[in-house]
Amino acid sequence: MNFPKKCTRVLVHFFFACLSERGRFLKEQIFFLVELQNIDLEMEELLLKKVDLPKEISRLDEELEAVEREMEEGRQRLDRLKDDHRAKETAMKNSVENSKKAKSRLLGVKTNKEYEATLKEIAAINEKSSGIEDAIIHILEEIDKVGEDFKVKEREAVNCRSKCENGKRRLEKELDSIDSALDGVLKKRDGVRNGIKAKFLKKFDAIKSRKNGRAVVPVWREICSGCHMNIPPQMYNELRRNERLMLCPHCGGIMYWEDRDDDA
Ligand SMILES: [Zn+2]
Repeated sequence: MNFPKKCTRVLVHFFFACLSERGRFLKEQIFFLVELQNIDLEMEELLLKKVDLPKEISRLDEELEAVEREMEEGRQRLDRLKDDHRAKETAMKNSVENSKKAKSRLLGVKTNKEYEATLKEIAAINEKSSGIEDAIIHILEEIDKVGEDFKVKEREAVNCRSKCENGKRRLEKELDSIDSALDGVLKKRDGVRNGIKAKFLKKFDAIKSRKNGRAVVPVWREICSGCHMNIPPQMYNELRRNERLMLCPHCGGIMYWEDRDDDA
């Protein structure tokens, strides 16, 4: 059958019009698929945060607990040293009293033996007093050292409490906002999925689960960004024409031509 020349021209025009119509449709579908992929990534990020944020909040609680526990241990050590100091001071007082009593007894001794025994007793008491005195000096040095450490720990605890409380407030606020953000993303996702042809959607979902989330891959200058491999020039030219949904021959991702000159 021979068409008149004019008729052939109309048919050719119609053919290319259909083709560009199809190209436009495919371009739009790819746009939706990329959008869906971004939304899915955004959703995964939010879901991950929903798991991570409570962990971060607990970590801050643990950090503060540890610093406050250390401070409390310092306080208890200081209290024990102060108790010890008080006990030693009482022992010293008793020792001095005992020494005084023994010395006054010296005045009333009748025999030489008794005198020597009392002198021995006084010497023993003095030796004990000197031991107590040494212990008191050591305890006072310890009280100074532990007291300084405690002051440092106390300051650290105050700073840590304010840092942790601020951090927790920020994280809890972020956590509270996640559910509403997820609602919004899910609505957006449904809307985009509704605009995608069922056949493409099925392919997208299958590739996504296989490729760990990256189903749609941009291709520029014959290189697939999904696997960084070269695709054949003929295939690249076909991809640029947007005639059909094409998969990368290497990684299996849904390819689309990303005109980076256009972006620039
Ligand atoms: Zn690839």
